[in-house]
Amino acid sequence: MEKKQPIPIGGHTLPPLPYPPDALAPVIDAKTVILHHDKHHKKYVDDLNAAELALQKAREEENFQLIQYWSDQVAFNGSGHILHSVYWTNMTCPGQGGELGKYTQSYIDWQFGGIKTFLAQFTAAATKVAGSGWAILGYNTAFRRLEILQCEKHENLTQWGIVPILVCDVWEHAYYLHYQNDRAGYAAAWWKLVNWMDVENRFIQATRGKLPLELDSPVVLEKREEN
Ligand code: MN
Repeated sequence: MEKKQPIPIGGHTLPPLPYPPDALAPVIDAKTVILHHDKHHKKYVDDLNAAELALQKAREEENFQLIQYWSDQVAFNGSGHILHSVYWTNMTCPGQGGELGKYTQSYIDWQFGGIKTFLAQFTAAATKVAGSGWAILGYNTAFRRLEILQCEKHENLTQWGIVPILVCDVWEHAYYLHYQNDRAGYAAAWWKLVNWMDVENRFIQATRGKLPLELDSPVVLEKREEN
């Protein structure tokens, strides 16, 4: 796997959108995308950098009086930055997202009983997140399988070790200009944007090449043992 250097303290940058801002229309309008990316996502990046630099200063001065505040800022804005970075690449032009990848398909069939029931559970999770948050399909490295989770804000209710694979932002800023209070309408239409190749690649990366399946073998998964 490609080796990358650590991101410097306070050195996070806003990743550019992988498509023009009007690429997701009419499912998500250009104005929403621009505000969401250029203002909201950028603020998570800026505030994460500020928090990391503040903690660096605290270490230098050996003054941890504000540790609770800055720890909260690192968790909130760091998770916000990570999830938005996944969110943008999880989407593409309506109808251009292709077919489910082989791994994704096999695990969804095995674990959720098929794409129809998977979509129903994920959409319900997105629609019913209390307040602001996310629906997340993640790979759980401890359980070696996928989980659909709700996330309040950016990091509450997660499971440790979860790697986000497919995430749907259900904060009001993600949909309110066009959908107003119809979050269910947004969550349902959002599937038209999902880039299944990105999902498949993220899934394979998350398992660090240790999936129980061989890439080139026919996809056959044994029933999960009850224990
Ligand atoms: Mn957002």
